[in-house]
Amino acid sequence: MGKVAAGVAVGVAVAACAVAGVVVGRRVGSRRKWKRVVRVLEELEEACETPVGRLRQVVDAMAVEMHAGLASEGGSKLKMLLTFVDHLPTGSEIGTYYALDLGGTNFRVLRIQLGGRRSSILSQDVERQPIPQHLMTSTSEDLFDFIASTLKQFVEKEESGSEPSPVRTRELGFTFSFPVKQSSLRSGILIKWTKGFAIEDMVGKEVVELLEAALVRSGLDMRVALLVNDTVGTLALGRYHDADTVAAVIIGTGTNACYLERADAIIKCQGLLTTSGYMVVNMEWGNFWSSHLPRTSYDIDLDSESPNPNDQGFEKMISGMYLGDIVRRVILRISLESDIFGPVSSRLSIPFILQTPLLAAMHEDDSPELKEVAKILKETLEISEVSLKVRKLVVRICDVVTCRAARLAAAGIVGILKKIGRDGSGAGGTGGRNRSDVKMKRTVVAIEGGLYTSYTMFRKYLHEALNEILGDVAQHVILQVTEDGSGIGGALLAASYSSYSVDGVKLL
Ligand code: ADP
Ligand code: MG
Repeated sequence: MGKVAAGVAVGVAVAACAVAGVVVGRRVGSRRKWKRVVRVLEELEEACETPVGRLRQVVDAMAVEMHAGLASEGGSKLKMLLTFVDHLPTGSEIGTYYALDLGGTNFRVLRIQLGGRRSSILSQDVERQPIPQHLMTSTSEDLFDFIASTLKQFVEKEESGSEPSPVRTRELGFTFSFPVKQSSLRSGILIKWTKGFAIEDMVGKEVVELLEAALVRSGLDMRVALLVNDTVGTLALGRYHDADTVAAVIIGTGTNACYLERADAIIKCQGLLTTSGYMVVNMEWGNFWSSHLPRTSYDIDLDSESPNPNDQGFEKMISGMYLGDIVRRVILRISLESDIFGPVSSRLSIPFILQTPLLAAMHEDDSPELKEVAKILKETLEISEVSLKVRKLVVRICDVVTCRAARLAAAGIVGILKKIGRDGSGAGGTGGRNRSDVKMKRTVVAIEGGLYTSYTMFRKYLHEALNEILGDVAQHVILQVTEDGSGIGGALLAASYSSYSVDGVKLL
């Protein structure tokens, strides 16, 4: 080999060594980064763990807080609000009734015709509309004028094709799914906004008065028969179909529950007289809190950056408004600590950019290459070209966050069952009796909300947890989806509490 050739050979060898060194260095570097990523994931998994023992603690805490909220005003983070609904639809309701359902992402107007037998809704027309974003933070007048005009158009459209319009005033159930302190069936003041609404002038105001004033302004002849929470509407529809329905749960944009309570157990309202001896209690369980809830740094940040810090803690771990944002926060942290997502995308810093339906789509992506995950990362978060391994990591994050949410919701449901003595542990949740000694009644819980109805994995995790917590008792507990229950139930309650008798003669 000549000198020149030898020099070239040495040069090539040196270059090869240098390249190899860089490759090894990168591998070590990327292994180190993965270690960091794995650590973040493991921390998340650990902080979100919900073994059945912990769920049982949440069940107990829920039942205890329910007692406390019933015992005194302000006695618990659970407001346990009176609804003044002391009877639920039986099936004998007859006639045409309307409802308005305002409470989250969508706003619905409905009209139902009832046939006078259980489960005999002869016709039902529903129109859904997203609430224009600017109206969620505008004035009460703007919001209610929009609602009244939508309702008026709906009424005119629906009635133009049907029989001559009735001589009597139309009756409407108003489903309003925010915390309201009711003083009667038809009156109540807004305590606070949740779920991103913030119309300052409305807090502390009579909600029905605001709606009625807007109905008058729009020239629509309609009487607001009653004001109900969406959970109460859901319970009403559940009961209309199935007499064993005792509670209702909503898991959509927000989350809440109500149930039928004995009037004498509502200690904060001594001497409360109801015709049935019962009253539906709106728990406002989104605000439930317990030290047993598995909380992460992401939850703490989400809460402190929210418009309502220290509020709605349970809701912020469970409901559709928040789950996507928890996942966004985890991805952002990983992106800041490693380069597995490439350069940190500015999109990752935009709150609520990753909405829960997108989280669900990534979680449920069953394509071998996780194409949907890649697409959502690219289109929503502007993160492209990530390896399959990284896409799998994203799916795992979605899984951890969803699984925790669903299992906590299940624990909440069992908390209610425990309070009313339907969890198999003995009447009134006092325990002591052997589960097998207790004769279990069939117990139906009406459930609605997009997170539960449209997200299969969420539903699966919730049912798994119910079975784990309840064991054999789970076979007596039925979760029954009541589609559009919050609105339809509002109309059913309007019928049930109607001021007209069957033939249109005014009773009140
Ligand atoms: P609202 O609570 O506004 O009355 P819904 O009960 O219809 O409305 O729930 C809508 C919410 O449910 C959405 O905000 C979203 O968080 C969640 N959701 C809807 N569809 C899906 C889906 N496919 N996967 C996961 N979450 C969903
Ligand atoms: Mg709703």
